Amino acid sequence: MNEQGRPTAPVTAVTEDAANTFTGNRALQMEEPLIFETGRYDVTGVDLPQEAGRAERATGSKKEAASAEGATGKKTRLGKHARTAPIDLPGLTEPEAMRHYVRLSQKNYAIDSGLYPLGSCTMKHNPRLNEKMARLPGFADIHPLQPVATVTGATELITELGRWLLEMTGMRSVAMSPKAGAHGELCGMMAIKAALTARGDKRSTVLVPESAHGTNPATAALLGYSVVDVPAREDGTVDPAAVRERLSPDVAAIMLTNPNTCGLFERDVVAIADAVHEAGALFYADGANFNAIVGKVKPGDLGVDAMHINLHKTFSTPHGGGGPGAGPVVFSDMLAPYAPVPFVRIAGEGAEFVGTRAEAGEGAAPFGRMTAFHGQMGMFVRAMAYMFSHGADGMRQASDDAVLNANYVRAGLRDLMSQPFGDRVCMHEVLFDDHFLDDTGVTTLDFAKAMIDEGYHPMTMYFPLVVHGAMLIEPTESESKASLDLFIATLRDLVMRAKKGEAERFRQAPQLAPRRRLDETRAARQPKLKWEKPAPWSEAAE
Ligand SMILES: *Cc1c(COP(=O)(O)O)cnc(C)c1O
Repeated sequence: MNEQGRPTAPVTAVTEDAANTFTGNRALQMEEPLIFETGRYDVTGVDLPQEAGRAERATGSKKEAASAEGATGKKTRLGKHARTAPIDLPGLTEPEAMRHYVRLSQKNYAIDSGLYPLGSCTMKHNPRLNEKMARLPGFADIHPLQPVATVTGATELITELGRWLLEMTGMRSVAMSPKAGAHGELCGMMAIKAALTARGDKRSTVLVPESAHGTNPATAALLGYSVVDVPAREDGTVDPAAVRERLSPDVAAIMLTNPNTCGLFERDVVAIADAVHEAGALFYADGANFNAIVGKVKPGDLGVDAMHINLHKTFSTPHGGGGPGAGPVVFSDMLAPYAPVPFVRIAGEGAEFVGTRAEAGEGAAPFGRMTAFHGQMGMFVRAMAYMFSHGADGMRQASDDAVLNANYVRAGLRDLMSQPFGDRVCMHEVLFDDHFLDDTGVTTLDFAKAMIDEGYHPMTMYFPLVVHGAMLIEPTESESKASLDLFIATLRDLVMRAKKGEAERFRQAPQLAPRRRLDETRAARQPKLKWEKPAPWSEAAE
């Protein structure tokens, strides 16, 4: 390692000629065509019994499509469906199929392949123990339609997980079924709407701070509310006075994220909650950033009425393609009666599982269900394994370390990179703006693309929207000091290069990735979701 912590192994510059390989591959970075492009249509990797009455195999050509009925004129049938054209699945040998999918899997940047600094996403390590537990046959092989008496272990696990969530948040009940943070927001806001409707209160507005995640205003709008922005004050947090100004008998709720998306704790949260309640409105907390405060503060003590918890962020279950989300929603005493089934609620010293409306009993008015069945069972098992293996003290330590790591990154970069709200201690993520790139000709996007060449997934860019050229970095507690040091040294090196006038290098980045800059807008607006045979291909088969 040299002074900056970079490996000193000689790095040979790639010459134009070396990059120009016959195969298009760059050593272990293989060009990978679609399986439809690489497969053949007249072979198959498995032995299938010859279909009765079918003399020749359909090969994908028009001529043979006509013979799909086979020699006897009998059509290939599945129940009442008859195939009239060849199936057109590409044929590959077993090793070819295997290699294709293994190579594809290696093209993913994943938490298991490198530091994943995406702010607002909490990309933390997914312990292998969680995976082992989720694969236990008693959990993995059960079916939601099994009689309840045969799945008491599963309902006990859901109850125990709910109890831990209620203990950590200081709330009364928790709806277990929402399948993501955004789905949890919808669930929480539906409960708020149900509670207001039950008291005959028609309110039509929801307050949302400008720095909020886009799912907050989207949730409010989906439920028919109009959204009123609350601007951030100079220091990046919400001013209770600005909330008070906007409160009226027409405001149903505020949706507030704490710590907020600038990585700052909303220190006036209690004053905001009080003002909201005085106006007869409710307080929805976006709990996506719970990772920073587990074991430190209970949202119930802050006046929160409903809050979702992203098990795939705070409680280490995989996400971002690695697994489905899970977004249980905790409710205060006031909202608890409206929780959708299934939910878990405090009962005496412990907790009880409520699976149906009938079981909810007197005084409860569940607003319905968010999903069929009970939610993401596999994720519940993983989150429970994480909690048991850490214990209460371990989870508190994880929050401490997440905050420490973010501040370590901040301290390592603050002399070179600019922060929008001054040099303040942050929570679990640190926010930079693009001020430090002024006059360099390098943009936030260029900077992020250059990180790809260095082997890092870029940080979250241009979010939150309130900050110009935002770069939001969340290392999480999972990263070691050594890995943070290398990350910091890499970013320092990039900043120095930008300041030294190497703008062109940034504009060309990424140079080493299999693909360079894609037309992301077109990819989003006109996605090609289906492979179509290129014309020459089908003609050539004639
Ligand atoms: C991730 C996130 C959400 C949405 O959660 P999903 O599970 O992705 O639907 C909402 N708010 C904030 C602040 C987030 O970071």
